[in-house]
Amino acid sequence: MTTPNLDNAIATDALIVGAGPCGLFQIFELGLLGIKAHIVDSLKHPGGQCTELYPDKPIYDIPALPICGAQELIDRLIQQAKPFNAEFHLGQEVSVVHPLPDQAFYVETSAGTRFVAKTIIIAAGVGSFQPRKLGGEGSEAFEGTHIHYKVQNASSYHGKDIVIFGGGDSALDWTMDFAGKAKSVTLVHRRAEFRGAPASAAKVMEMAATGKVKFIEGVAESVMADGGAFKGVRVKRNDGVVDSLNADQLLVFFGLHPKLGPIAEWGLTIDKRAITVDTEKFQSNVPGIFAVGDINTYPGKKKLILSGFHEAALAAFAVAGILNPNKKVHLQYTTTSPVMQKRLGVS
Ligand SMILES: Cc1cc2nc3c(=O)[nH]c(=O)nc-3n(C[C@H](O)[C@H](O)[C@H](O)COP(=O)(O)OP(=O)(O)OC[C@H]3O[C@@H](n4cnc5c(N)ncnc54)[C@H](O)[C@@H]3O)c2cc1C
Repeated sequence: MTTPNLDNAIATDALIVGAGPCGLFQIFELGLLGIKAHIVDSLKHPGGQCTELYPDKPIYDIPALPICGAQELIDRLIQQAKPFNAEFHLGQEVSVVHPLPDQAFYVETSAGTRFVAKTIIIAAGVGSFQPRKLGGEGSEAFEGTHIHYKVQNASSYHGKDIVIFGGGDSALDWTMDFAGKAKSVTLVHRRAEFRGAPASAAKVMEMAATGKVKFIEGVAESVMADGGAFKGVRVKRNDGVVDSLNADQLLVFFGLHPKLGPIAEWGLTIDKRAITVDTEKFQSNVPGIFAVGDINTYPGKKKLILSGFHEAALAAFAVAGILNPNKKVHLQYTTTSPVMQKRLGVS
């Protein structure tokens, strides 16, 4: 990489990559030691797997919380970290990490946000969540123009022929929402059983029975195009018949899957899709770059939230050591430390 342009880059002592439970707790642990952080997540909201994969499920192994909803845990972590005013940069993936002279790193995100960070703590879990693609011949050429994985501007679908793929809540909710607003709505799912809420599934089936929407049990076979112009999609029904559906837009809700993504390019030692760290500081092979939570690996590693919390605490002490090499970082208790209580805003 050529020397990056550092003009107007945000200077920070600590940059956290990933706002899942461990990244959020990292804000807190750094804050207790007087270190302010910036935090980036490719998702539009904090919470990582807890929010994205199982927000309503109970967690039973968070110390002192006999039962805690996954989203509730995230809300509590955000509240706990609030006194430290971390700056959130959401909906953007950290794409570039490049070492600079004098113990600093140049960091760039997919949205063009640039940082000069003295330390980096990677709390990227299982990687960035990416939408599962439609597949089917010819589909890639129309992604972003006629094939979409999220609804950005709902009214732009009104009056259009749309085909929705998927069997979860997003597919069911948008089918109900667009019925009567779009010119036509066809829902395609590989079977007549849905992962989404039973009440929504029942409503959609009722709408299909009365002709308000169309429902097809099948999978996408190929995109229909004519000289580069999008025409629709061929769907192979479960009985083997192929339907050619004229459509203006396709909406695909097959869920998200994690991808290590750009992290693999940052010169870190990776073992089985995880960053190798020591167990004293949770530092990677690159001094100044730490990894906590599901993204790291070391002998005995268990991918549990509580393990990530411990790792975040020790990584924070190591970050403090890098920022102030001549100052010993003493252990203090939040119960009795006036300095920490002042930082917490409780004194
Ligand atoms: C169904 C289910 C139930 C579970 N139950 C429990 C349980 O009971 N107890 C327990 O301890 N654990 C449980 N877990 C595991 C727990 O959710 C994980 O251990 C935890 O989420 C890891 O937190 P994390 O912060 O390391 O990563 P994650 O939660 O994965 O968050 C990582 C974040 O980093 C972001 N990211 C990744 N790469 C980038 C990038 N390049 N740029 C910007 N952002 C990036 C991602 O978008 C994501 O938001 C469960 C997991 C699942 C799936």
